[in-house]
Amino acid sequence: MDTKNLGFDTKLIHAGAYEDEMGSATVPIYQTSTFKFKSAQHGADCFSGKSNDYIYTRIGNPTIKALEDNIAALENGFGGIATSSGMGAVSAIYFALLSQGSHMISTASVYGPSRGLMEQDFSRFGVESSYVDTSDIENIKAAIKPNTKVLYIETPSNPTMQLTDLKAAVKVAKEHNLIVVVDNTFSSPYLQKPLDLGVDVVFHSVTKFINGHADIVGGVIVAKTEDLYKKIRHAMVYIGSNMDPHQAFMVIRGVKTLAIRVERAMESAMKVAVYLENHPKVAWIKYPGLKSHPQHELAKEQMSGFGSMISFGLKGGLEAGKTLMDNVHLAILAVSLGGVETLIQHPALMTHAAVSKEDKDKAGITEDLVRFSVGIENVEDIIADLDQALAKV
Ligand SMILES: *Cc1c(COP(=O)(O)O)cnc(C)c1O
Repeated sequence: MDTKNLGFDTKLIHAGAYEDEMGSATVPIYQTSTFKFKSAQHGADCFSGKSNDYIYTRIGNPTIKALEDNIAALENGFGGIATSSGMGAVSAIYFALLSQGSHMISTASVYGPSRGLMEQDFSRFGVESSYVDTSDIENIKAAIKPNTKVLYIETPSNPTMQLTDLKAAVKVAKEHNLIVVVDNTFSSPYLQKPLDLGVDVVFHSVTKFINGHADIVGGVIVAKTEDLYKKIRHAMVYIGSNMDPHQAFMVIRGVKTLAIRVERAMESAMKVAVYLENHPKVAWIKYPGLKSHPQHELAKEQMSGFGSMISFGLKGGLEAGKTLMDNVHLAILAVSLGGVETLIQHPALMTHAAVSKEDKDKAGITEDLVRFSVGIENVEDIIADLDQALAKV
């Protein structure tokens, strides 16, 4: 079905789905590693590009393609590339866009392994990188070098909830011919469409909001142009960070409810944020929906909602945060985010443990920071859970 002129919620359900020969109402799972050629010539045509028929699942598969087309439609891009995980997407992007001697500028408080992969591994192959607070565009300008090729942004960033003005960042990047990549995991395309703001490549850990049910790991990249799409697909196919057909089926099922899940979680997140902001034991809170967030106005302009991720610190610091995490019953003490269940975790001890103390301080990942992902349970229950745990602090 051509969903181009249909609404976003309709696209969630129908974009990318194709007419199945058997009349299946949902996209079937093609659980196969390889596809039969009709003749030797047909096999040769598939490899030379004369035919677009399927060859081998690492290269392409109908179930995986249905998901890729779906996410590409949601992000308004040329094409989608599904990967084994969000990090499978990051690897393919770095591999495709950087070479020995090239330089990348990244948001300092990015997802820990996105930074670790560059600093610990790509650095061994001569790729340079700088980490700056991209919420101030002047920092991006100051970091640009003659060999800078990529500007890599996470907004809102993990876990500091800092925003980067994408239109302003794109303007600077285009003056220097940089490719702009955005990790859109925290917002999902329901709240933010970076390609519409001039960004070149967007990707998601679909493990989070897009799948939304904490039952698979996966990634999807969407490139704005055919050229970037081909480069990144080539890298993904050669690295072998492809998605599996069953995994794709799960994500196709999960993404259909993205809009209603995000709406509900956001509504609750606002209430949880107000509750925390007024709690006497809370030292500080960062949620883009609160007027106290330094970039509340930018969030209103750049995003169509404030999401359901909250960062906060308790007056009692790290020890108080640990007591809180050890005493919640409904919220699950676990990493990850964006699922139907409420999760709580401690970035300095967990997701960002591999980042050095000095770099954590520079990126604003303080010792007391607690990250909270609001789920879609009854909000009264989420708040009551926090309330009884905070009483023990
Ligand atoms: C989880 C996450 C990733 C990595 O994704 P995986 O699916 O865990 O490999 C990348 N970026 C952000 C913002 C994330 O939250």
